[in-house]
Amino acid sequence: MLVLIGVLGAAIGSFLNVVIHRVPLEESIVSPGSRCPHCGHAVRSVDNIPVLSWLILRGRCRDCSSPISVRYPAVELLTAICFVAIAVIDGIDLDLLLELPFVAMLIAVAFIDLDHRIIPNRIVYPIIVYALAMTAIVAPDQLVEGLIAGAGAFLFLFVMAVAYPSGMGMGDVKLAGAMGLFLGLSVLPAMLAAFLFGSLVGVGLLIRHGSEARKRQVPFGPFLALGSLVGLLAGPALIELYASRFL
Ligand SMILES: [Zn+2]
Repeated sequence: MLVLIGVLGAAIGSFLNVVIHRVPLEESIVSPGSRCPHCGHAVRSVDNIPVLSWLILRGRCRDCSSPISVRYPAVELLTAICFVAIAVIDGIDLDLLLELPFVAMLIAVAFIDLDHRIIPNRIVYPIIVYALAMTAIVAPDQLVEGLIAGAGAFLFLFVMAVAYPSGMGMGDVKLAGAMGLFLGLSVLPAMLAAFLFGSLVGVGLLIRHGSEARKRQVPFGPFLALGSLVGLLAGPALIELYASRFL
C-alpha cells in the first residue's frame, strides 16, 4: 500500500511540475502535452516516467540533449516522500482524501511563490471549495473546527499583511484560510513553525548579506507550506505537549 502511495505521489508530482510551470503563465494544464523547452519536441510517454526517466536520460532531452532541470525529478520525489510520510504517520484512512490533495497544493504553491512571488487564486480557490466539500463528506465532525481555524488564520495573516505589506500579500492570507480548513486546531503549530522558519531564514540572510538582505524579498508561501507539513505530521502531538506542559 505504501509503495502504491509513493508511486501515486511521484505521478502527482509530475503533474505538479506542469502546474508550477503553466498556471502562473495562465496556460492550460491539460493541453498541449509536455514539450522540451529547447527543441519543442513532444516528450514521449516512455520518457515521462516520474524520476526514472530523468535518471535514465541523465537529465537531458532525448532529441536535442539540452539539460533538463533537476527540479523536475526533485518535485516528483518530494511529493512521493510527503505522501508516504503522511500515510505512515497519520495512517491509511479516508483522511488521506484531505491530506494528500492539501500537500500537493502546498508543493505547487511553494514553488510558484518562489518563482513568481504570487500564490494564484486559480489554485487556492478550488482547494478551499474542495476542502469544504470533502470535509463535509469524509469528516463532517471536523467541519466547524476547520471553519473556525480557517477564519482565525485568515484574519491573523490579514492583520499581518496590513501591518507589513512588504512581507506578505493577499495570496498568503487566502492560503492561511485554506490551511485552517485542512488543519483545524493544528493550524496553530503550523503558523508558529512557518514564522519560526521564516525568521531563521531572515536572520541567515541578514548574516550572509548584511543590510543588503533587506532588499531581498523572501516569499512567505514556502514557509507557510513547510509549517503546514509540521501541522499535518506533528500538529496534534505538539498541541498535546503544550497542553501537558503549560495548561
Ligand atoms: Zn529537446
